[in-house]
Amino acid sequence: MRALILGGTGEANRLADAAARLRLDAIYSYAGRTESPAPQSLPTRIGGFGGTDGLADYIRTERITHLVDATHPFAAEIRRNAVAACAATGAALIALERPPWRRSPADNWIEVEDVAAAAAALPDQHARVFLAIGRQHLAPFAAKPQHAYTLRLADAPDEALPLREASIIVSRGPFALAGDLDLIRSRGIEWIVARNAGGSGAFAKIEAARQLCLPVVMIGRPALPERRATESIDDVLAFLGHDACLGA
Ligand code: NAP
Repeated sequence: MRALILGGTGEANRLADAAARLRLDAIYSYAGRTESPAPQSLPTRIGGFGGTDGLADYIRTERITHLVDATHPFAAEIRRNAVAACAATGAALIALERPPWRRSPADNWIEVEDVAAAAAALPDQHARVFLAIGRQHLAPFAAKPQHAYTLRLADAPDEALPLREASIIVSRGPFALAGDLDLIRSRGIEWIVARNAGGSGAFAKIEAARQLCLPVVMIGRPALPERRATESIDDVLAFLGHDACLGA
């Protein structure tokens, strides 16, 4: 057994810690998007593979038998590549993924399919909007230049943003409710745009919107091919042929 963990998430980091404790033969992979990725206790590689063929080549060259896709639920390209590369090489695949957030009766969500639909769902009249979606997905909001946008980004952007009025907060999660309530109140935020990432690290803004009765434009997850998936790190360790209790 030799595993490749496609990471870049808190779940992937927790899995990597458990795998290292169990002394599993595993490699952790980062895309290389952030300036200072968290150090891992497993051997780590950084950077894209070069599409499905590149990932398949890597699997063959490194003699990977098990691939764990623990990437972010909105990292659709690498998630699709993982399915295709495993089909091409015969490596076993499992996805470790958090369940999506569920709307409660107290929520005022406008659920949309993608970022373009999210921009279209914003009102026509001026509003103060918290865009909590990552810098790669901002272009569709250029079509709504009347709004004052607040962005929260992991790293300061190194190029001009496609938005006329944008205020940037550089900060990395996990985020707490008190801080997000403060952010929303102090900036007079009226609308929130979020992706349904699930998990606890980014939920504070959703809870804050619920408390403040603000509308949330909630972008649904991209569709993916059928594959084995679990929410449990223990399930992944069992898939890798190890009992989590052995490492306790
Ligand atoms: P994406 O659009 O699905 O991937 C774009 C390309 O980045 C992939 O085709 C692949 O390049 C490379 N890539 C992505 N994840 C990789 C990994 N773990 N190891 C090696 N290469 C990887 O992904 P994304 O949305 O840009 O996200 C990039 C990374 O950031 C992911 O690892 C994800 O877990 C993490 N992340 C994403 C988000 C988000 O909001 N999307 C949030 C938190 C963390 P090649 O085709 O060249 O192999």
